[in-house]
Amino acid sequence: MYRGTFAIVDERAIRHNVAAFKQKLSDSTRLLIAVKANGYGHGAVEVAQAALGAGATDLGVASIEEALQLRRAGIAAPILVLGVVSPTAARTAAKWQIAVTLGDDWSEYSVPQFEPPLHVHIKIDTGMSRLGFKTLDEVLPVVRWINSRPDVVWSGIFTHLATADAADYSRTKVQIARFEQILAGLKAQGFVLPLVHAANSAGILRDPNWHYDMVRLGISTYGCPPSREMDVPVSLWPTLHLYSFITRVATIDRGEGVSYGASFVADRPTKVATVPVGYADGYPRALSNRAHVVIHGQKARVIGKVCMDQLMVDVTEIDDVHPGDCVTLYGRYAPEGWRQSVMESLPESEHKDWLIRTFRNYSGKNLLPLDDVAKIGHTISYELMCALSLRVPRIYVKN
Ligand SMILES: *Cc1c(COP(=O)(O)O)cnc(C)c1O
Repeated sequence: MYRGTFAIVDERAIRHNVAAFKQKLSDSTRLLIAVKANGYGHGAVEVAQAALGAGATDLGVASIEEALQLRRAGIAAPILVLGVVSPTAARTAAKWQIAVTLGDDWSEYSVPQFEPPLHVHIKIDTGMSRLGFKTLDEVLPVVRWINSRPDVVWSGIFTHLATADAADYSRTKVQIARFEQILAGLKAQGFVLPLVHAANSAGILRDPNWHYDMVRLGISTYGCPPSREMDVPVSLWPTLHLYSFITRVATIDRGEGVSYGASFVADRPTKVATVPVGYADGYPRALSNRAHVVIHGQKARVIGKVCMDQLMVDVTEIDDVHPGDCVTLYGRYAPEGWRQSVMESLPESEHKDWLIRTFRNYSGKNLLPLDDVAKIGHTISYELMCALSLRVPRIYVKN
């Protein structure tokens, strides 16, 4: 690790969060963990393994490619592709025993024979207006078509909630009522329902009646509340922590500009630290002149535009700031011992072990919440997590 910018993924926190939600469910309710988008940026395989170890039963992804990544890593748990898949692409899904979402009537297509049988979950659009069938009349021919196919198994039926995390979630109640109506209609036609599921993180917390046979936990696996508009009566531990080491400290005169466009101009002599993290790493440009980082336990404001690979912070008020000092971009404040010089005194092969060991033994609880940084950047925790670029090494703290 030569650049000194890295993320810690705390698998202990992932396991804690999953177990905490598991406790909210009845014993028979299955717990799917959404690991799409590389496990919300954390690393899909690592998150999947940690979550399954903590009581999760199923995994949710956005594409067959993401599902294959898990299968190739040897993960055998049920996987559901939450986005829609074409009949020809589904051949691969069947081969690897990956369940797919059916949001379109396939009876009009030329559908290949599936070997082994393809597992499908029917998607109902109850108000998200994104994917799925809207009425019982649309669903019935699909169910009949599935039942006419010996190589297709009806494994699930589900909907997705659009406003469960909002202060006013009355639309969610309408969504659930529509879902119930379709489920009742299917039962009235004599169909035995497969796995029924509806709730995302927010839905799980809002109402246990929405848990049905399985819930789909995403953002709160990763330690964030679904939104700021709801109480989260579960203790969530932060899972993602981003750090870097200062590369330069310099003092500029009053009137001098910082970064592209000189959007920050010093109104006094200002001590500026340069940090090798930028928007290409997933630290959004929208944080320019708005966010702060933490150095030696103190806040330092981001000044000037965030560049592609670097950013500058004002450290005028912080004593003893030097190149090689550790910067917390979000997550738990870095342990005081984290200095580049300490790392460089170790053989390269021991960098990771040293970081893991010191992070694990560090008792500091102070936090620069990822969720707060997201808000300052006019976005949400989900997007900030997914933005973490693949060039940022992830260091996994397993136990
Ligand atoms: C991503 C996703 C989830 C998880 O949502 P969170 O808000 O992150 O809990 C659940 N269901 C579907 C269909 C999804 O795409």
